[in-house]
Amino acid sequence: MADLEIVLKAALYVAGGALFASIAAFLAAAFGDSRVDVARTFADAPAEPFPRPRLLRFTALGFRFTYFAMMVTVPLVLLLVAIGIRSGLVLAALTIAIIGTIALVLGLSAIIRCPKCTKRAIMNAGLHVAFAEPLEGLSPWGSVVKRIARERRFRCMHCGQRFTVQEV
Ligand SMILES: [Zn+2]
Repeated sequence: MADLEIVLKAALYVAGGALFASIAAFLAAAFGDSRVDVARTFADAPAEPFPRPRLLRFTALGFRFTYFAMMVTVPLVLLLVAIGIRSGLVLAALTIAIIGTIALVLGLSAIIRCPKCTKRAIMNAGLHVAFAEPLEGLSPWGSVVKRIARERRFRCMHCGQRFTVQEV
């Protein structure tokens, strides 16, 4: 019976992960900007420092962490079970940690806006964006997240303004 319980828990966990990913996608769409048009572009403007660079980098790194955590969680749970840790508490703590991080980074990315065009700097919610700079096959916002985390610079995918992300 114990084995059945473990299998059920693992199945619940995977189903839960899929549910949370769906909720995250729904929230991203719900919070996304509804307009596609850009009245003005800043594609040729010189790069400017992004205001609140720490918040921007924290959010970008949070997204990266969440992605990584979701990738490793299922193998991690299987490993925990394999070495005899079958506490529902551990599984619950992992789940809560991941949901909490997703909620936090989605909330932050909903309030971080490009100072030039006022659109959300790291959300495109499936909309066409004029100035996407795809990186390694990622979506427009995923590419922005990776550039902020890795290169500390990015171009606003909505208006084309280039930004540096320097913590002073
Ligand atoms: Zn912009």
